[in-house]
Parts: sequence; C-alpha cells; structure tokens
Amino acid sequence: MDTRGILIVVSGFSGAGKGTLMKALLAKYEERYALSISATTRKPRPGEEDGREYFFISTEEFEDKIANDELIEYARYVEHYYGTPRDYVERQLAAGKDVILEIEIQGALKVKEKFPDTLLLFVTPPSAAELERRLVGRGTETRDVIESRLQRAAEEAEGMSRYDYLVVNDNLDACVEQVHAIICGEHRRCARCAAFISDIKRELEEL
Ligand code: ADP
Ligand code: 5GP
Repeated sequence: MDTRGILIVVSGFSGAGKGTLMKALLAKYEERYALSISATTRKPRPGEEDGREYFFISTEEFEDKIANDELIEYARYVEHYYGTPRDYVERQLAAGKDVILEIEIQGALKVKEKFPDTLLLFVTPPSAAELERRLVGRGTETRDVIESRLQRAAEEAEGMSRYDYLVVNDNLDACVEQVHAIICGEHRRCARCAAFISDIKRELEEL
C-alpha cells in the first residue's frame, strides 16, 4: 500500500539473540526485508566475513566516513566504533524494502531523531540469567569482555521504555513471527497509508 519501505531499528543486549533472530527472519521473509550491514572497527569473530556480518575497517577509515557524512549514525560501543552506511539504506527504502538496522541504543535514538517514523524494537532474552548463559555459551568473548557487555546491558535497560515494542526472544520461531507481525501491523497504520486513503476517497466520490 505504501510504496516506500519502513526503517526498523532492532536493539537489544549483547547476547540477546538479535543476530540469530535477524538471520531467521531474513531466511523466512527474504523478499520483504533488507538488513543493513554496519561498518565497525572491531575485529571479526571466528566465522564472520568482511561484507557479510560487518564491513571491518580501520579507525582511520571509519573517521574518514564520519568526515564525509557517509554514515546515518555511529556510536562507540565497548571501545569500538560502529556505524550505519547511508547509501545502502536509502537505496533499499526507495526500492520498497523494509530496512532493518541492528544497532545499539545511542544509534537507535539518533536514527529516531533524524527519521521520526522509524519503528524501534527492543529484543531481550526472558531473564538476565539467560542473557549471561547465552553470552558465555556463544564462546566468542573473554570473561572481561562479557563483564563489560553485561554492565553495558544494565545501562541499556534504562532506555528500554523509549522503544515502540519489546520482543522477548524465548522460542526463536515464535519470536520471528512476532517481529514479522509487528512490522505488518506498522504498515497498516493510517498515517502510513495516505496514498490508499486518498485513492479510495476519490473512488467513492466517483461512484
Ligand atoms: P546478539 O546478536 O544479540 O549478540 P546472538 O544472536 O549472537 O546474540 O546470540 C547469542 C547466543 O544465544 C548464541 O549462542 C545463540 O545461538 C543463542 N540464542 C539466540 N537465540 C536463542 C534462543 N531463542 N534460545 C536459545 N539460545 C539462543
Ligand atoms: P557486536 O560487537 O556484538 O557485533 O555488536 C555490539 C553492539 O553494536 C550491538 O549492540 C550491535 O547492535 C551494535 N551495532 C552494530 N552495528 C551498529 C551500528 O552501525 N551502529 C550502532 N550505533 N550500533 C551498532
């Protein structure tokens, strides 16, 4: 109905399962969504590929992108830069795709300020104990980094109520359906259906 895609931000504590959830959502609804690939100065984890999970770049390259206004937003997270490249997001939205940014809270709030009709989703595991289990179970960070991320989670929890929807990632498949349903609902907001409303008004007058 609305031809332009919706900009969707997905945030959540590190280890909540955002990456897993996004992968499953895109596998099921590939034609509907485009997942933005961020640039970061952190090093790839085992199994991560440049241009697939992130564009892994140096601090100098990242600072050049900031200077050239190539990023919609950027933030520092536990000692590294992370940012969203502008070009891809704008092209996919214009092509009618719903574009998902999987970013942390400072970036999320900046995007919402710039583009107020952005949909903000916050993903959480069912409990803090489960969050710690998932972070440890992933086995990709040292105990020190896990501690920093848990501390950051406590800070991020302060901002949860600024999001539009809370998504509890307990059963993964149910969670995928829940996210898809929220986004479908968002498309049906009358404020996003101005073109349909003006068409049907004209048709009714012509009856
Ligand atoms: P994030 O991207 O939010 O940091 P990940 O997607 O890397 O989190 O998930 C963290 C860990 O939790 C991974 O080991 C993943 O397999 C696991 N995980 C993700 N979703 C679930 C779920 N619904 N139930 C149990 N474990 C999960
Ligand atoms: P990770 O190192 O676990 O991949 O990501 C750390 C955090 O950075 C996560 O909360 C993730 O959502 C966030 N992040 C990833 N890309 C971006 C980005 O482009 N901008 C911002 N602001 N945060 C990002």
